[in-house]
Amino acid sequence: CGIVGYIGYREAYPIVIKGLKRLEYRGYDSAGVMLYDGDNIKLSKTKGKVVDLEAKAANEISTNGTIGIGHTRWATHGVPNDVNSHPHVSNSGDLVIIHNGIIENYAPLKIELIKRGYVFHSDTDTEVLVNLIEEVQKKENLKLGKAVQVALNQVFGAYAIAVFDRKNPDEIVVARLGSPLAIGIGEGEYFIASDASPFIEYTSNAVYLEDGEMANIRLHKPMKVRKIKDDSLVDPYIQELQM
Ligand code: GLU
Repeated sequence: CGIVGYIGYREAYPIVIKGLKRLEYRGYDSAGVMLYDGDNIKLSKTKGKVVDLEAKAANEISTNGTIGIGHTRWATHGVPNDVNSHPHVSNSGDLVIIHNGIIENYAPLKIELIKRGYVFHSDTDTEVLVNLIEEVQKKENLKLGKAVQVALNQVFGAYAIAVFDRKNPDEIVVARLGSPLAIGIGEGEYFIASDASPFIEYTSNAVYLEDGEMANIRLHKPMKVRKIKDDSLVDPYIQELQM
């Protein structure tokens, strides 16, 4: 399973697809991608290999856009099929998430969300998390980063996540606990991946998030890293990658 993301000025799709192929060694049963072109969220996902995703995406969506996230799934909750594949979208259609890991307490959270009117399309723990983030965001009128933080403090489990919000599309929020997440820092662009192999050809500067950290990755701004638990800011250690 793996995660790839891009926010910058290049076409995101080829970077995300190539990155997912580099992460294939991690094993997976499904793959998916979200692209944002400044107006629309475009999603394509499928059971199968990254080449199957490419074939499907070519038929299904226009693959332009300078923001993108991609995922390879190793199913833990819900069988491998197209619907359970990531990305998952919140009920409003605004929030899009990719997730590696497990949300252990998804069942009681799901019951609570259903009581509040949320509808679920997949059997995944991940779709619960994206709707929990949405519920927190709406109830407390929070920006995405804050909402992700509050929601993560209500879950148990393991995760590497990347979340996109159409209402504030210059940003991707990432977080990790127990699953790896690296951020590549370029000039006017950022890369996100489970390891540095998807972005090593574009930049040699990387930050490896530590367990329990999250980052706001914003276009044309320095990224902010903080601790999920207590909101304290972390000075990220920027590592020089060996090409
Ligand atoms: N638990 C999630 C699912 O089953 C994520 C699995 C993964 O790590 O790819 O969809």
